[in-house]
Amino acid sequence: MRHIDERPAVGDMPSTYDHADTEGRWYRTWLERGYFRARAGSGRRPFCIVIPPPNVTGALHMGHALGDSVQDAIVRRKRMQGSETLWLPGTDHAGIATQVVVERELAKEGIERRQLGRERLVERGWQWKEQYGGRIVEQMQALGLSCDWDRLRFTMDEGLVRAVRVAFVRLYEEGLIYRGERIINWCPQDTTALSDSEVEYEETEGELVTFRYDLSDGSGHVDVATTRIETMLGDPAVAVHPSDDRYAAVVGKTVRHPFTGEDLPIVADEVVDPAFGTGAVKVTPAHDPTDFEIGQRHGLAIRNILDAHARISDAAPERFRGLDRYAARALVLEALREMGRVVREERPYVHAVGHCYRCDSEIEPWLSGKQWFVAVDRLKGPAKQAALDGRVRFRPERWQRPYVQWLDNLRDWNISRQLWWGHQIPVWYCPNGHLFASVEDPTSCQECGDTDLEQDPDVLDTWFSSQLWPFSTLGWPEDTEDLRFYYPTSVLVTGYEILYLWVARMIMSGLHFMEDVPFRDVVITGLVRDRRGRPMHKSSGNVIDPLDMIGRYGADATRFALLWMATGGQDIPFNEDVVESGRRFANKIWNAARLVVQARDGDAFEAALPADDVLALPDRWLVSRLEACRDEVDRTLETFQLSEAAHAIHRFIWSELCDWGLETAKPRLYDGSPEERRAAASVLAWVLERSLRLLHPIMPFVTEELWQRFGAGESIVVAPWPEPRPGDRDERAEADFGFAMELVTAVRRFRKAHGVRDSMSLRARVVASPAQRVTAKALRSEIERLAGLSTLDVAGEAPESVGTARLVADGAAVFIPLAGVLDLDVERGRLERRLADVERLITRAASKLTNDDFVSKAPAAVVEQERARLDEATREQAALAEQLGELGT
Ligand SMILES: [Zn+2]
Ligand SMILES: [Zn+2]
Repeated sequence: MRHIDERPAVGDMPSTYDHADTEGRWYRTWLERGYFRARAGSGRRPFCIVIPPPNVTGALHMGHALGDSVQDAIVRRKRMQGSETLWLPGTDHAGIATQVVVERELAKEGIERRQLGRERLVERGWQWKEQYGGRIVEQMQALGLSCDWDRLRFTMDEGLVRAVRVAFVRLYEEGLIYRGERIINWCPQDTTALSDSEVEYEETEGELVTFRYDLSDGSGHVDVATTRIETMLGDPAVAVHPSDDRYAAVVGKTVRHPFTGEDLPIVADEVVDPAFGTGAVKVTPAHDPTDFEIGQRHGLAIRNILDAHARISDAAPERFRGLDRYAARALVLEALREMGRVVREERPYVHAVGHCYRCDSEIEPWLSGKQWFVAVDRLKGPAKQAALDGRVRFRPERWQRPYVQWLDNLRDWNISRQLWWGHQIPVWYCPNGHLFASVEDPTSCQECGDTDLEQDPDVLDTWFSSQLWPFSTLGWPEDTEDLRFYYPTSVLVTGYEILYLWVARMIMSGLHFMEDVPFRDVVITGLVRDRRGRPMHKSSGNVIDPLDMIGRYGADATRFALLWMATGGQDIPFNEDVVESGRRFANKIWNAARLVVQARDGDAFEAALPADDVLALPDRWLVSRLEACRDEVDRTLETFQLSEAAHAIHRFIWSELCDWGLETAKPRLYDGSPEERRAAASVLAWVLERSLRLLHPIMPFVTEELWQRFGAGESIVVAPWPEPRPGDRDERAEADFGFAMELVTAVRRFRKAHGVRDSMSLRARVVASPAQRVTAKALRSEIERLAGLSTLDVAGEAPESVGTARLVADGAAVFIPLAGVLDLDVERGRLERRLADVERLITRAASKLTNDDFVSKAPAAVVEQERARLDEATREQAALAEQLGELGT
């Protein structure tokens, strides 16, 4: 048997595909020819994706590589289908993340941001962006992304600054942005407020301490429980439920604060849960959102006992001032213990504690001056409705439910960030107490004309600008051609971790400002984890760099592997072996193409398939299977099942085209008449060219490089997507050739089972139905060659059974005389001994597994292993029995 890989080099096609030589060269050509440039209003159908903008601080990671591969495959197919595609790229200024890296750089120079001042820190931010913002673009290009780089945007570029201001002012004027004093989520490490969505709740081991407040009149006491005992330094009251009989007598009295000596009222409030702890709670309005509300209702004093770094402030008794929150927690507890006021200590007490999604510090619920909020009540209804009535579809669909639930529970959005890097809030204050929002920088107060104005020092949450991304990048608030042509965009592809932070907010703002959804389909991808399923983290040392994969295996192989593994939007345990398989796949196609190019011997490419009567049965089979593959690839790409598409095209090219199509064609290519050679070569060229177009969205580079060798047109990037050819399906050819494949496979399996070398020629007789006999005769030389038979006898009568193996293929029997092939007694003895071993194994495993003691006491993993062993042995037993049967009785 000859294999395609053994053929000598053909012209300028080396025997191994070199991705490093190919990828950069084609990418530059594509850019030069402007294939990725979109022309709004061209008369073609618009198709648009806006890229989830990666942070300027970052480098391309596996998560980006996955999302980008998905988007590029979708976009490239649409481009080939003739849509006017726009894949709009960009980067995000990433408020906190960027300010943190800039401050870290400053720290190396011994500079603190407050010394430097706002203006110069922002300058340093821009310098950082100029220096590193381009890096991630280069990395995206290495992956082969077909973005329109002329339209590259940045969330702080001029147009987007204006978009942010217009959006803010409009919401403000509509009463949907307001300024309020509320408890917010405060990160003492980053010294900024965070929205609810930026807080991650983690089960944390803490303590629950119950301590005692004495009634001021000495008539008794009230016990309260807390996990943050240091906050009692700011307690202005104790609260109980109004209908709680246990405390009815003390409501209206006061308790005495053990450190300050102040008298604190006992108030009754509906919000208190009588079932929690003692039924009485301490009230800390400056450090808890519920307590803040109690404070408002009862006119309680607000005492903020923590500063911005979560150290005890001057509002607390002197002895605790300046202490870190954790040190204060220990010291307050110690002091109360000494006073004999600690009633109970539960430790560890596991409860959910909010952590900063950036730096993982514990979040402090904190009252921090006045902050700006977006009122969400009027925005969330339409966003929910858009999903429910299918104007926005989630893929997979299971993400719709959490999205709707999230909207239902959504509270007003705190958009103030106590940072300098970002969009400064466009609100100005005058000395006479007026404040107003403005799109342009004002010179005087809108109410009194005073020119001494001060802008709000805070910046907006990063997500405030990125929520406008699908229309701000197209030119909004101006009425641009891009905006009219491409909005609503078509598809959004993103990881589930920003479904709420970003996707939901884009839908709310798109509906509000553009009066239409921002995109039709939301494709949610999983996270790329390490091979064992753990998150990739620098600290775990398990991070895989996509550039490293691209360098070693090529961008095609990396993209192919990511899509191959991304089934059903699940998290991906990343396996480098699959990338290596992707590289081998590219090489396999390369070699198939080499063979076909050589066989065509310089013939010009013909876009049409040779006439039906010229086609041999294997050709008709191959053309039929290609149409089946085209249908599956097309259908799965249309419904965003990228992994299924990758599997379908791989199966066709690797197995049906290379292993069967090419192998059956070889005798005609090498030993056939000139007409036979030409017909076989042009069918293969036609099939391969079409397959390359089907594969192009997933593996753009190797497909372009090979497509060029067929001289089929200018570039595969702008070649048409293969149209359906239902007439190519040929069930008869598939059944007939399928029978030949089964025969070959049966003989190959026989060789493997009994250790018969490929080089040893076998004789075979097939006993089959009349139709099968016709097929076997027609394909005799192909079957002989592929199965390594010296003769295939299609006699119709069974031979003597002694000394003859009997195989089954598609209902037909295949007889192989064993004289000179196998020593029947030796082979039978070998199989019988192995069968006896396997049966002993089965008995042992089965008795263990029926033993209740073993099953209930052994570790689950051990029981599982035993079960797997039994399954494996049972399978082998069946195979051995069949192999013995084949050898005759
Ligand atoms: Zn933080
Ligand atoms: Zn004024």
